[in-house]
Amino acid sequence: MNGIPTPGVFLGSGEPVVVQKARKALFLDRDGVINVNHGYVHTADQTEWVPGIFELCKTAASAGYALVVVTNQAGIARGYYSEEAFRQYTSWLHEQFELRGIHLSATYYCPHHPEFGVGEFKVQCNCRKPGPGMLLAAADDLFLDLGRSVLVGDMPSDLEAAKAAGVRSSFFVDAALADVARIVDDGGDEA
Ligand SMILES: [Mg+2]
Ligand SMILES: [Zn+2]
Repeated sequence: MNGIPTPGVFLGSGEPVVVQKARKALFLDRDGVINVNHGYVHTADQTEWVPGIFELCKTAASAGYALVVVTNQAGIARGYYSEEAFRQYTSWLHEQFELRGIHLSATYYCPHHPEFGVGEFKVQCNCRKPGPGMLLAAADDLFLDLGRSVLVGDMPSDLEAAKAAGVRSSFFVDAALADVARIVDDGGDEA
């Protein structure tokens, strides 16, 4: 494999859209933020939604935020499940949001691991959080304004990635769910 490793992306239906002005995004870590982290979750029956996550997403979408999932997937790197299985699960996850009236613009995933990756996935990359690669790729692909965007995570590495990418603010999930309005309040932006 040549060149710089890049994150995978599962684009939601209708993306990317043509926009006049860069959009703001709410970046969401997945395990521990969207689904309860039972460890390497990759099937519907392992999925337990984090209480309050759909409400947070609805509020953010109403306030004009594109919703983008950014997830380290060492389970792919380690060979616990295939990239194809992960993408099928991601398609199902996006559908579950759509059923609740919430559109996810995309899921970015890092399938790499510098130590425990198998084969091509054993690589030092810039997309595995705390690296900013997934956020930077999303900003390019989806025309996002990182300086007006927000990230919600459950690990210090999530917040470090946000900082490295120049995301306006980031929050731990408990704080985000306790005060949803604060997450989406960017001080009176017109968009
Ligand atoms: Mg997490
Ligand atoms: Zn990576």
